[in-house]
Amino acid sequence: MCSQSGWGFPRGIEKELEKLDGLPVPNSFFYSALAGWIDMETLSELIDMQNTWLGEAARYLIKNKEWSLFFMHAHCPDHFYHGYINDIETDPAIENAERKFYNSLDRMLGNILSVIDENRTMVIVTSDHGATPTENIKHPEYKIFGVNAILEKMGLCRIVQDPVTGVKDIDWTKTKAAAILSCYVFINLKSRYPHGIVDDSEYENLRNEIIKAIYDYTDPLTGRKPAVFVLKKEDARIIGLYGEKIGDIVYGLYPEIGGEHGRQITTGEYNIGSLKGLFIAKGPGIKKGMKLERTVWLTDIVPTICYALNLPVPAQCEGGILYQIFEDPDFRLKEYEKFRENYERIKRIFDAEKHLTHNY
Ligand SMILES: [Zn+2]
Repeated sequence: MCSQSGWGFPRGIEKELEKLDGLPVPNSFFYSALAGWIDMETLSELIDMQNTWLGEAARYLIKNKEWSLFFMHAHCPDHFYHGYINDIETDPAIENAERKFYNSLDRMLGNILSVIDENRTMVIVTSDHGATPTENIKHPEYKIFGVNAILEKMGLCRIVQDPVTGVKDIDWTKTKAAAILSCYVFINLKSRYPHGIVDDSEYENLRNEIIKAIYDYTDPLTGRKPAVFVLKKEDARIIGLYGEKIGDIVYGLYPEIGGEHGRQITTGEYNIGSLKGLFIAKGPGIKKGMKLERTVWLTDIVPTICYALNLPVPAQCEGGILYQIFEDPDFRLKEYEKFRENYERIKRIFDAEKHLTHNY
C-alpha cells in the first residue's frame, strides 16, 4: 500500500516512525475509489489511516526532537472535493464520508495539540483554498468551459491524443498559445522557447485576440460569461502575480464554472462550496474567540509567524503581519521600549561609576 522507508529527511528518520498507528498511505487511493475499486467506507478508512499516521508522526517528532517551527500538511479535503463535491448533496454515502474525514482530521489535530505546551506555542490551522461544485454538471447538454477549446477553435492551439493511452497533450510545434496551470495562457514565443513558433512582433495582437475571445464566450446553458477578468501578465500585479513563471494572460472565473478550484476567483462562493481558505490562530498573546474582519492573504502567514516568534523573515517574504490577531499589536514595540529603558538605566549607572575619581 505504501513505502515506509527511503523518503525521509534527515535520511533514515522514517525508520523511527515505522511502529506508529496508521500508515503513510499516498493520496492515490482516491483514484481507486473514483475508479470504483473500493467503496466509500473503505475510502474513509484509508483517509483515517493516513490522518492517524500524520497525527502520530507529528506527535512523535514534537515530543522527541528539538524544534522551533513545526509544520505539516493534510491533503484529504482537496482530493475529496475534487472527486465528490458534486454528489455530496444527493448521495448519503458521500455526505457521510465527508463528515468522517472532518472527524478524522479533528482527531488528528486533537492528538497533536495534546502534546504541545499551550503556554509557549502558537498554533495555526490554514488552507490554501476551498472548493465549489459545478453548475449544471448533470445537465445532458452541460459543456465544461475550456480555454484551450477556444484557442483550438481559433486555430491557435493543437491538442493531440495518444492513440494507445488516450492521453491528450499539446503539440507545441503547431501551437501559438495554450492554457496550462489552471489560470494561465502562455504564448509560444520563438524568443523564449526552443519549440517557439510566435514572433515577438505578433505577441501583443495575439494576446488582445485571446483576451477578447475569452470574454466573448457565453455559457450555452446559462447565457452568462464565465470570466470575471482576463489580464495581461504585466497587469496581474493587481492580484499579486508577477514574474517569469506566470502566464502571458491570467484569467479568473466565477465559482460555479467547472473545476473545483484553481481558476475560480478566491472570493467565490457557490451552492455548498466556497473558495475561501481557512485561517485559525491560537496561542499566547493571540485574541480568543474573535473573528477576523480583514482579508488574510496566504502571503501574510509567514511574516505573522516571524513577527510573533521573533524569527528572521525569508528573503522573498512579501506579505504583511496580521496585527489584528494579537491582543496587543504593539507588543514588539513595547518590548523594545522596555529593553531600551533598561539599557539606559544600566548605562546611567555605569557612566556615574566611570566618573568617580576616587576608590573606596
Ligand atoms: Zn486541488
